[in-house]
Amino acid sequence: MFERPADDEEHRRPRDDEERRGGGCEEREIREVWHDLQVTDHATKARSSSSSCIADCRERRGTAGAGARIGPMAVDTSRVAHLDVGPGELPDTMAAWVIREERQGEPLEAFQLEQIEVPQPGAFEVVVRVMAAGVNFNNVWAALGRPVSVFRYHDEDHHIGGSDASGIVWKVGEGITRWKPGDEVVLHCNQASYEDVEVHGLDPLAAPSQRIWGYETSWGSFAQFCKVQAQQLLPKPAQLSWEEAASYGLTYFTAYRMLIDQARIQAGDRVLIWGAAGGLGVFATQLCKVSGADSVGVVSSTAKGDLCLALGASAYIDRSDFAGMMRRGDETPEQEAARAKESRRFAKHVRELLGAPPDVVFEHVGRATFPTSVLTVKPFGKVVICGATSGHQLDFDVRYLWMRQKQIIGSHFANAYEATRANALIESGKIRPVLWKTMTFDGVAEAHQSMYKNEHLGKIAILVGAEAEGLGATGEGPGAIRAEVGG
Ligand code: NAP
Repeated sequence: MFERPADDEEHRRPRDDEERRGGGCEEREIREVWHDLQVTDHATKARSSSSSCIADCRERRGTAGAGARIGPMAVDTSRVAHLDVGPGELPDTMAAWVIREERQGEPLEAFQLEQIEVPQPGAFEVVVRVMAAGVNFNNVWAALGRPVSVFRYHDEDHHIGGSDASGIVWKVGEGITRWKPGDEVVLHCNQASYEDVEVHGLDPLAAPSQRIWGYETSWGSFAQFCKVQAQQLLPKPAQLSWEEAASYGLTYFTAYRMLIDQARIQAGDRVLIWGAAGGLGVFATQLCKVSGADSVGVVSSTAKGDLCLALGASAYIDRSDFAGMMRRGDETPEQEAARAKESRRFAKHVRELLGAPPDVVFEHVGRATFPTSVLTVKPFGKVVICGATSGHQLDFDVRYLWMRQKQIIGSHFANAYEATRANALIESGKIRPVLWKTMTFDGVAEAHQSMYKNEHLGKIAILVGAEAEGLGATGEGPGAIRAEVGG
């Protein structure tokens, strides 16, 4: 999904091989902050009872370490939707797709099915039975171990990825009063320690302990059960099936924060959206529509353009008509002059389509498009960026920024309040998930491999506890839009 900058990473997680083996003092402190959600007597008791349970479990099986493989037991994926226990009770083990440090590489190799101990919820934690999971690019990075190995972010010896899920609350830890076993939920993927002061007055995204669950933490959604902080739970929109409900959280909540709280779009604004038929773009386009803003989407095919129009964009641009504007980063001065000329032609076309230059440019492509974004946005306008698929070293003609007093705004995922507000728009049917494909639990490695090879054409959901597509809807209302964006 993203790469933390090096200073950020050092700030959060100083770690060398020595520390990995033994754990220096500072490292231990950071672990304390990260794992100990609440330092109360209750929490301490809960933690010790949960560790003794895991220890008992290990003893019974002769295994070592949390998340340990449970012997040579074959994983029967045909049984993944079946449980022998009811809400409130956890089985000893579960089927999970696991990445381990020694086999990081292409997703097909890195992801392997294992039988893993089921985690117990600590204080203010919840174990959720995963009914369906959503696939995101972040676990392609997790598989590859690039640009940073996820094992530098968390202490488990395994990585169960998956940052989107719909499911059923199965067991709650101490301190939980708002949720109970049996509640149907979707999850947002931001975690932070309740002890960090930023959580209580600034924003959890500013907390030193902030992590993306299922990427920078383990116990994600590619397993029969996942473990989350209680603040990650949101009510499952009743009209959605399990797979529809699992498909939208990470990208939608990110787009919501970018446009609503960071760029603060208003009715009448004009917005340019890169990758408008992609995971973020389909929600950016719908958010513009419900906010009364006009959007133009940039895409790479007519079918994707049609999807943008269906989602409410005023127009779309096929980027292949402006291939020369894409920045590679190794241009000669002559090539750069030609590239800049092509960018100006693109900016003019955007102005023609919107009637004026865009107030906001929605960015996540990075190196290839960023100079064009800064050029195209109107004077005093905003470029809001959350990713850099084409490369994170950006360069652009800064004169367009200062002379025209434009702003660049960095944005990263969303906090629980934003996720809740955004989820309410899904519950009301004003924003709809856009789903391309649903696969069975067997398909996790394959889904990530296809994303790695850029063969995917939209959002993929994985059935876990749900036995088939289309199950789980309990209310009336529109379901997901099915994206037919091939070609
Ligand atoms: P996605 O579903 O793959 O969509 C991205 C779209 O961008 C693609 O469909 C493609 O659309 C377009 N694109 C890709 N390469 C391009 C290029 N070189 N030039 C122009 N357009 C290009 O991915 P996503 O889920 O929307 O995520 C996009 C990026 O944001 C990723 O890097 C992701 O890691 C990051 N992200 C960050 C956060 C966060 O919280 N910081 C959250 C979500 C995602 P066309 O081919 O149709 O133009």
